[in-house]
Amino acid sequence: MKLRKHLTADGLFSDIREGMAKIKDHRPLNVVIPLVDALMSGLALFALKDPSLLAFDERRVAPGNLRKVFGITAIPSDSQMRTILDGVAPADLRPLYKQVFSQLQRGKVLEELTFIEGYYLLSVDGTKYFDSSTVHCESCLQREHQDGTLTYSHQMLGAAIVHPDHKAVIPLAPEPIIKQDGAAKNDCERNAAKRFFEQLRQDHPYLPLIVVEDALSANAPHIKELQRHNLRFILGVKPGDHHYLFAHVAQAQAAGRTTEFEFERDGVSHRFRFLNDVPLNASNAEVRVNFLEYWEVKGAKISHFSWITDFTIGQDNAYDLMRGGRSRWKIENETFNTLKNQGYQFEHNFGHGEKNLSVVFAMLMMLAFAIDQAQQLSCKLFQAAWAKAGSKRRLWEQMRSLFSELPIDSMADIWRAIAFGFHIEGRIVIHDSA
Ligand SMILES: [Zn+2]
Repeated sequence: MKLRKHLTADGLFSDIREGMAKIKDHRPLNVVIPLVDALMSGLALFALKDPSLLAFDERRVAPGNLRKVFGITAIPSDSQMRTILDGVAPADLRPLYKQVFSQLQRGKVLEELTFIEGYYLLSVDGTKYFDSSTVHCESCLQREHQDGTLTYSHQMLGAAIVHPDHKAVIPLAPEPIIKQDGAAKNDCERNAAKRFFEQLRQDHPYLPLIVVEDALSANAPHIKELQRHNLRFILGVKPGDHHYLFAHVAQAQAAGRTTEFEFERDGVSHRFRFLNDVPLNASNAEVRVNFLEYWEVKGAKISHFSWITDFTIGQDNAYDLMRGGRSRWKIENETFNTLKNQGYQFEHNFGHGEKNLSVVFAMLMMLAFAIDQAQQLSCKLFQAAWAKAGSKRRLWEQMRSLFSELPIDSMADIWRAIAFGFHIEGRIVIHDSA
């Protein structure tokens, strides 16, 4: 089996480790645990899907595999890890995502996710991953209730390259929605989006992207922002939130100026209505958009969607634009829900810290997810192990127990053992097939 070394877990771990080694340590000199080891341990915690920091801490009893696979020389205890990572600036972790992305770009894996006209779909949305009435830190968002009590939360704006035909997604660096330095007021998703797109264009100035977002983003200031960054868009709209737009379309329809068509495919009826060059609302008449409405009819079940886009809509591209718009849910389903329910434990509190720990853990978890997704897209050995295990849950279980029990040299050893079997002679692991 020929592997593209840079796109295996082992290749990506060693690449990331080099990137982590460049992050400036926030602590005084002469530290016991180098920053790179603390960061790499955090990544290993999420790469291994350990259920708690304590479970990871127990791995220090037999540290051989952590040393070999993740290159960690001094393994921190759980409390050391919390203390060190609490002081790390989340923004320092951003370049690590670009490293994974660049490997996928160089390996021509990204190309497979090209959507239409050379563009990639970028699905963007916010999510909450922490909520408490007692535990909090400097960067928590605060909400005051009528009885004067406070609740604290953490949210982040996530973004991933998605494709309607691919289950795997490529997450980009998320933007934490956190209390900003010196700010009295809470941060919000809209401000985080501004920072996110600014940063996106710094990291990927020329990447051809179509941003797909929900109806909250279909407003004039945001569209102008996307245009300023040279980003195309397909944004959800709702009759309840966009009265003017829907009234305008209804008028045009009555006057016979909308285009309607439908066709059947595999027992599903696809119905479209569209109108190009429509003003978004009364107060921003200069913002002109193209409107697409769609009904999917499966027997008695009818699903209805509507979007605005800056692509001129015709009968030739309406179907593609619809699929692009609908792939927005992949940031929720394939990304956030996977992190919450498929072994990563996004909502579990691995430690909150006083400054950045909660955010740093979330960023490292998303990075571990990015590495897994890169393998899912491009590593044949990972794909073979996943197929053999039958589900991600079983794959992670087997990975965890093999990592604890077998002396190994690399993650490839684990995937190979799961995919093809192994036996032990004395203390030597013999892989049944390579
Ligand atoms: Zn907090």
